[in-house]
Amino acid sequence: MNNTNAEQIREKRSRLFSWVIFFILLSVSGFVAWQAMSTMQQQWTQDGGVLRVTQLNVGQGDGLLVQTPQGNDILIDAGRDRRILSEIGTVLQPWNTTIEYVIATHEDADHIGGFPFIAQQYQINEWIVSGRTKETTVTKELHAAQEREGVMHVATAGESIAIEDGVSLEILSPDQDVPAHEDINDDSVVAILHYHDFALALTGDAGITSENEIMKRHEPIDVDILKAGHHGSKTSTSPEFLQWLDPEIVLISAGQDNDYGHPHYRVLHDIEQYGAWIFRTDKDGRITCETEGLPGDVQCSRQYE
Ligand SMILES: [Zn+2]
Repeated sequence: MNNTNAEQIREKRSRLFSWVIFFILLSVSGFVAWQAMSTMQQQWTQDGGVLRVTQLNVGQGDGLLVQTPQGNDILIDAGRDRRILSEIGTVLQPWNTTIEYVIATHEDADHIGGFPFIAQQYQINEWIVSGRTKETTVTKELHAAQEREGVMHVATAGESIAIEDGVSLEILSPDQDVPAHEDINDDSVVAILHYHDFALALTGDAGITSENEIMKRHEPIDVDILKAGHHGSKTSTSPEFLQWLDPEIVLISAGQDNDYGHPHYRVLHDIEQYGAWIFRTDKDGRITCETEGLPGDVQCSRQYE
């Protein structure tokens, strides 16, 4: 009797011991796996790691805001008027009074008209410009704002502007070594915003002439998002350029029932044929896309469902 009891106790102890060892091993391997994953994650996603792209709903014009994981704001064009302020106010925190980078793709009113209003409300650290200016009442206000504050940076094809760790702007156009184009649209700043594996193509109003020149100068680039050139006009976004950039998502900025017929059915048809998602401000309103910079990781939502 006593012997059997002692054996049972021994057996129970050894079973308990095995369970303890099992749980220790499980916890250790779990901890090691968790550590490895969080180190990997930290590499990609500092400070939460989300980069946000907002195609602002500025009507017939263009305005897009990029917010980086480390808090740099990059505003690419600002629409034609003060509507940019209410739009950007829906995205930026009220206590955020600095826009680190502003890109004026070219000096047409529907892209730069909103900048003087932005400059009144926000501190602008750096202006990235095409280097091609024109004299109109709107550009006079823009130039005055540029003289008041912020570093001027003329974008040059081939350069890369480091924004922060993991985020950079690769400039594809204009090529400052060649004379200005007849059409100011073709001197738009065209750039790729890189965030680890994520890429966004910014095109201003660059036309097919500019697209062809870029494709001649540069190897194809695989982007996640293309902001379609010139509001989806037929004079931009050639099928070749679409193929060259290979986007998953195409953003189009156009006003509701605009007089220009933007976006053009040829462009919409080509993008659909290509199998990319189309988001357009005239139908969807403001469009917000977020990524952590991992391959194929982009999620977009629209203002109007
Ligand atoms: Zn335009």
